[in-house]
Amino acid sequence: MTDISSRPDLESLNLISTSLVDVATDGHIRLLGGRCRACEDLSFPRAAVCTNCLSEDIETVDLPDQGTLYSYSIVHQAPKGWNVPYVLGYVDLPNTVRVFAHIDVPHAELTVDMRVKLSIGVVGTDPAGAPRSTYTFVAA
Ligand SMILES: [Zn+2]
Repeated sequence: MTDISSRPDLESLNLISTSLVDVATDGHIRLLGGRCRACEDLSFPRAAVCTNCLSEDIETVDLPDQGTLYSYSIVHQAPKGWNVPYVLGYVDLPNTVRVFAHIDVPHAELTVDMRVKLSIGVVGTDPAGAPRSTYTFVAA
């Protein structure tokens, strides 16, 4: 995977989903979640309907950019276009949101409960062979 700091241009990142993450021109990465205006419940990805109170009044909010690795798995088999092996895991953010994400940590260094921080990494290639990126978590 690739560090974002050398490539802050959003277009060049070829992000898999631009609705989940945003990268400012200064390289600052924002994980985009949802907050219910009725009950303050948070979601990621941003929910269309609040799972707590069923309100549809959900605003987009920046989620914390650091958390704790809850669990992970190393993936060795993947569809065409994904770089293998890769690590998928759940990251618990300090506001109770649990995020499913690529984890860009050397396998020997992976531990449950390790501190991780948000990043952007190349995880594969698109059908034309261009690198594809998405939000990832790296060791904090
Ligand atoms: Zn709600």
